[in-house]
Amino acid sequence: MTFEPNSTDAARLLRHFEARRDDILSLARALCEIESPSGDGEGSAAAVKLLFDTANLIEGASAERVSAPDGYGEHFILRAFDNPSAGARPLLLLGHTDTVHPRGTLAARPWRETEGRIYAPGVYDMKAACAAALEALRACVELGLKPRRPVVLLLTCDEESGSFSGRELVEREARRAEYVLVLEPPASGGRAKTARKGTGLFTLEVEGRAAHAGLEPEKGVNAVLEIARQIERASALAKPEVGTTINVGTVSGGTHANVVPAAARAEVDVRFSTSAEARRIEEAIKGLKTFDERARLRVSGGINRPPMERTDAGAALYEKARRVAASLGMELGEASVGGASDGNFAAACGAAVLDGLGVDGDGAHAAHEHIHSDAVARRGALLAALVASL
Ligand SMILES: [Zn+2]
Repeated sequence: MTFEPNSTDAARLLRHFEARRDDILSLARALCEIESPSGDGEGSAAAVKLLFDTANLIEGASAERVSAPDGYGEHFILRAFDNPSAGARPLLLLGHTDTVHPRGTLAARPWRETEGRIYAPGVYDMKAACAAALEALRACVELGLKPRRPVVLLLTCDEESGSFSGRELVEREARRAEYVLVLEPPASGGRAKTARKGTGLFTLEVEGRAAHAGLEPEKGVNAVLEIARQIERASALAKPEVGTTINVGTVSGGTHANVVPAAARAEVDVRFSTSAEARRIEEAIKGLKTFDERARLRVSGGINRPPMERTDAGAALYEKARRVAASLGMELGEASVGGASDGNFAAACGAAVLDGLGVDGDGAHAAHEHIHSDAVARRGALLAALVASL
């Protein structure tokens, strides 16, 4: 039996998730209490082991742990509802187990529930969503709901640091998938995300020549002045009216006020809504020329995540999800945001992607990171209904 929107299954799913709410939260808590900042191999392995053990209790599911290079951590892949004879392309649930919070954050800000909010490092981005996703698969088995497609749950361990090894897995699974649902935090009001900007990071380094600022300044080549001019030029590439923004976030250079500085550097964060803008910015920044021809300019870095543009396929997937949510009595809004996620890589593979399907809350990456305690059951039921019906 597949889940049909507007059927009595909606009520069954909601009841199931209300009854399982405390179990989902205790898994989310256990995950948060294993600190797993990106690159912490031990923390990552412990978090993934917990997911692996929990997943193996789901009938018919098979879990796999994939090591990232250099002890960086472990990726987690779970396959369920595989029915090769049906020939349907899979549904991919995509998320990550790493957080931005360094070890020790938990001691300073332990799991705490107050006034309908649950605070913990990584709870909103996105350990509560990892727990809810596992329960969504378990719920389908327990309630006898038969998803139309095989389901793959992929949780990477390096999303917060740019997905240097997770990207390959994300792209491999996204290419095979019909639909990709991303477990990142929703926008305010629980809205799903149908578009995300792409990101790039460039480093500008200027080599000048040191000289005494009083005795023979003419022999110097001022690297700080040169970088200042380059910053102006790079910043002028912004076109906020089409979504392209530029932020020179760090700048350094020079040694003493009385020395003509020989070196300076700046880091430039760029965000864009279209691939055309990404190309324009990359060409312009890589083509920057020095003002003072005696100085040398080196540009490194580049585009990291391509933009996730609002495609027809993505919009159609959102429309389906909105109807499924409505059958559960929920209004699923839509948002377009500036931050990037692994959903960007999945979308660049041509998959239909809907992002922001995690648990409502606020304060991702911040000290006040929290989820709304009444959202856990609701969002879990939504995930299960999507898995069962798409
Ligand atoms: Zn995230």
